[in-house]
Amino acid sequence: MTALTLHHEDAKGTHAMMPCLEDARLYRNLAYIGGKWTHDKTYFNVENPSNNEMIGHVSSLCREQVIHAVDVAHEAFSYWRRLTADSRSEYLMQWHDLILQNREDLARIMVIEQGKTLSDARGEVDYGASFIRWFAEEARRSYGETIPSHIPNAQLQTVREPIGVAALITPWNFPNAMITRKAAAALAIGCPVIIKPASETPFSALALAELADRAGFPPGVFNVVNGDAAMVSEVLCGNDKIKALSFTGSTRVGKLLLRQAADTVKKCSMELGGNAPFIVLEGMDVEQAAKAAIDAKFQTSGQDCLAANRIFVPRKQYSGFLDSFSRQMNALKVGDGFDPETEIGPLISARAVAKAAELVDDALSKGARKIGGDQSTAPGPNYFVPTLLADVTPDMAVYREENFCPVAGVLAYDSVDDVIEMANDTEYGLAAYVYGHDIRAIWKCMRGLEFGMVSINSVKMTGHPIPFGGMKQSGLGREGSRHGFDEYSEIKYCCLGGLPTASGS
Ligand code: NAP
Repeated sequence: MTALTLHHEDAKGTHAMMPCLEDARLYRNLAYIGGKWTHDKTYFNVENPSNNEMIGHVSSLCREQVIHAVDVAHEAFSYWRRLTADSRSEYLMQWHDLILQNREDLARIMVIEQGKTLSDARGEVDYGASFIRWFAEEARRSYGETIPSHIPNAQLQTVREPIGVAALITPWNFPNAMITRKAAAALAIGCPVIIKPASETPFSALALAELADRAGFPPGVFNVVNGDAAMVSEVLCGNDKIKALSFTGSTRVGKLLLRQAADTVKKCSMELGGNAPFIVLEGMDVEQAAKAAIDAKFQTSGQDCLAANRIFVPRKQYSGFLDSFSRQMNALKVGDGFDPETEIGPLISARAVAKAAELVDDALSKGARKIGGDQSTAPGPNYFVPTLLADVTPDMAVYREENFCPVAGVLAYDSVDDVIEMANDTEYGLAAYVYGHDIRAIWKCMRGLEFGMVSINSVKMTGHPIPFGGMKQSGLGREGSRHGFDEYSEIKYCCLGGLPTASGS
């Protein structure tokens, strides 16, 4: 993050660099606090990963301004929580509709700051909006329970209450949907939010804030702060007025935030890294399995927490699978996200490219075979050409670490029991894929895999109605689905005693 020192909102400079938008007012570069656009003297640069061109500067807040955001959100809580679920739902639906009306601009902003393809970016805007609609509807159904009483003459019941201000810290790989998946649940149940987006992709978050402003959310209910990540998280995690912390990002940073949040005993939900196995079962058509593995591996150019990290193939079908996978992989078109033929965009930074190269070198030094991945054909410095590593072993970084790049590690296995054991041999537990027809083997995998989400014969598995989340060090809690409210609410139990009996005595 490069810092520039300016004394005013650098609207002119930023607008000169912005992507071609139908509505230029969506390209904001200040923070949004208490219903106002706010800035400090320091700005940081944001670059287009496709060509490293600067696309704007964003105001970086100081500690006092972040504390101010907490104070105004806390003030807004007492009002927001008391609105009816119907009213909150209407604000959310207004925001949802504005997002879809501005879908194309939001997608273009995402391509220019994140690098994904325009069609993926459009898909993400739809995906992000779907959580807002879902929680706007769920808000009306956040029922409590009536409990059969064990105490004479008492009525026992529970109500679900909003927990308080929620701090939401989000990553760059899904700059829209990782915000809406959290914010929609928090807002719908009655919690104001303070969002800290990744510094690589602040413009998507600020465009969402502009649309939240137009949707008319009361001041302080929706806030976006940018700034030094360590300082912002220290303020948010240490402040007792923040009651919930929801983070999506790396396991390393997640652990740090959990430690910081311990002193004020916040409710923490963590969507962290993954190391997804993709298991081809014996008898599966290799061409079909390879096609699915390509889709699971190279989504978001491999920069996806759900990306297939280790591909396990029955030994008998191993060489056929490698042929099919490499043929299909080599046909993937690498290029700029705005080119309609592009299937693999740039990585987020030069550092990410260097990490991909290190993974390949480490694997080759330990006996893997490289297929494809001719980096001399890369269209720019932040691109990494899809690479297949065959004969991967558990001592290689590509097997143990979350790859987050278009490098696919493949290995052979001998039995279903073996492959389940190998797949589980990781501290991560987010998602797993299984492809096959043998129902006994499928069932064994479904129950034996220690992953929060197991997808059988389908790469697509996520969406608003499902509980998204991981086991082990992939996280805590679930997002989306009816369980999504749990992270932003408390169940309050009420015992109303001393009541008259049914006969009136
Ligand atoms: P990251 O480095 O952990 O950053 C995520 C967020 O944390 C950013 O807003 C970042 O701010 C902030 N941050 C970074 N260092 C920090 C620190 N020392 N203290 C406090 N905050 C800090 O992750 P990323 O590289 O953006 O995203 C990739 C990771 O996200 C992968 O591990 C991926 O698996 C995970 N992910 C998980 C899911 C899921 O649902 N499980 C979904 C998407 C992504 P700055 O940008 O300002 O540094």
